[in-house]
Amino acid sequence: MQADGTPDPGDDALVFTGANPSRAQRLLALGVVPGLLLLVFCTVRPFSAVQLRPVEAFVPFYVTMMFATDVIIAVILFSQFSIVRSRALLVIANGYVFAALILVPYILAFPGLFEPGRALIGGLQTTAWLYILRHCGLAGFICTFAVLNRTATDMHLRGGVRRSIFLSICGTTAIVLALATLCIAEHSMLPTTAVDDVHFSGGWLYYAGLPIASLYSLAVILLWPRRHTVLGLWLLVVAFVHLVAVPLSFFPSPSRFSVGWYTVVVINLIANSLVLIVLLVEISNLYPRVMLAVRAQRREREARLVTGDAVAAMIAHEVKQPLAAMITRAETGLQRLDQSVPDIAKAKQDIMKIVGDGHRAAGIIDSIRANFKKDGRVRTGMDINHLIRETTDVISDDLDKRRIALEIETGAASLVVTGNRTQVQQVLLNLIANAADSMAADEGDRILTVRSQLVENDEVLVSVADTGKGIDPQDLDRIFNPLFTTKTDGMGMGLSICRSIIEAHGGSIWVTPNNPKGAVFQFTLSLETG
Ligand code: ADP
Repeated sequence: MQADGTPDPGDDALVFTGANPSRAQRLLALGVVPGLLLLVFCTVRPFSAVQLRPVEAFVPFYVTMMFATDVIIAVILFSQFSIVRSRALLVIANGYVFAALILVPYILAFPGLFEPGRALIGGLQTTAWLYILRHCGLAGFICTFAVLNRTATDMHLRGGVRRSIFLSICGTTAIVLALATLCIAEHSMLPTTAVDDVHFSGGWLYYAGLPIASLYSLAVILLWPRRHTVLGLWLLVVAFVHLVAVPLSFFPSPSRFSVGWYTVVVINLIANSLVLIVLLVEISNLYPRVMLAVRAQRREREARLVTGDAVAAMIAHEVKQPLAAMITRAETGLQRLDQSVPDIAKAKQDIMKIVGDGHRAAGIIDSIRANFKKDGRVRTGMDINHLIRETTDVISDDLDKRRIALEIETGAASLVVTGNRTQVQQVLLNLIANAADSMAADEGDRILTVRSQLVENDEVLVSVADTGKGIDPQDLDRIFNPLFTTKTDGMGMGLSICRSIIEAHGGSIWVTPNNPKGAVFQFTLSLETG
């Protein structure tokens, strides 16, 4: 659910009532059920008027079952409404509330159920009219559902879900109370439909048969286009079952406890239970889907956190070097100014280098941001030999301090490659810094060699070789992995950044042992063509 109360598109996974029914469901609803119904109809129709013995426990059993299934269906539909807040779902949930509630006065008014020979409340016409009103009401709710349940008209309710449900149930209960009061208190005023506790009059056809059949026919017509959703399909089945039940129990001489009457009651029960079973099956199918969605969401959140950590580490790693350089240069500059005869010219050079470092740090941040924007990868032609010299100049002071001899071997005067200048410089700086670190503890010659050469006509190979401690063979597979480090103050991001930069440039990067000792990191870039 979104902040403004409208449903989230992701909520669709939780709303099975609007989902497409499975093939098996469609076959059952549009093939098996109507087929069986037709079979029952043809078998029972010739005997429908045959009067059977009244089974006393049958009515309370039937009414209790209908009440229970109606209430459970209503609860499931309300829970679906609370997710999508569709008016159509609220209406149909209330349809089932209506159907359930009206059964209470119906059973209390049923003749001979609580007291022999008479009803607890109301008169002869009460149960007959409550039966008519129950069916007309339910059919009315189904028709309203079918009309509202179209994308254009089914407006989603804003505001509190509980409030909407509470108010709608209050409204439905008020309608049931009003109808029940009318049927109980004014039963003598109601048109005659029942002639005694068992038989119905000719008026039954006009007051019950015609309106019920017309409303369920309308419901079938309106629901036909909605048969592509689970709820639409099964409400269609319900409307169809009630429609077929009309000629079974209403003709030729309608009466309670006839073969037709018993058949219709059983069919109604089966239809209601079928809807309930389908909804319950859909709910149980929903749980694995929700579990998968929750797991996927959790994984995504964790991945985002890891990415966030990696990005933070990347920024810290990359910006640390120019910041450290700026601090060293600023300290040197201050020392030069603090001398008895201040060396202003050299201090000025230091300050200019600080400015350069500042620009480099800003460039690094820009290039990291550009990495995350698809359109931000600016590629230009650049002379890699020039860039090597420029980059080694940047850290030449540092190399001097660490007693590292620098050798630059470029195969040609200029080699123009295509790429992002700041990013390629980052790669060189990372590789050189690592090489310097690996030689830090070495008492012998410390030689750093940076080479460039043209290979296979359209590729330039750049290598950074050192005479340091080399790489443990067991670490070879993982040194390019993010967060892998063997240094106490390392972040393990440098080589991972180098690899992502080089691969984003269409090149590759790898490491081999140096001879006689140390490591050689090599990467390729495309030569600029044309
Ligand atoms: P960090 O420098 O923060 O440790 P890197 O991703 O740059 O992260 O390097 C990962 C690891 O690879 C280092 O901790 C080190 O063990 C190894 N490594 C990188 N460059 C070299 C090198 N030139 N010589 C030896 N080991 C190296």
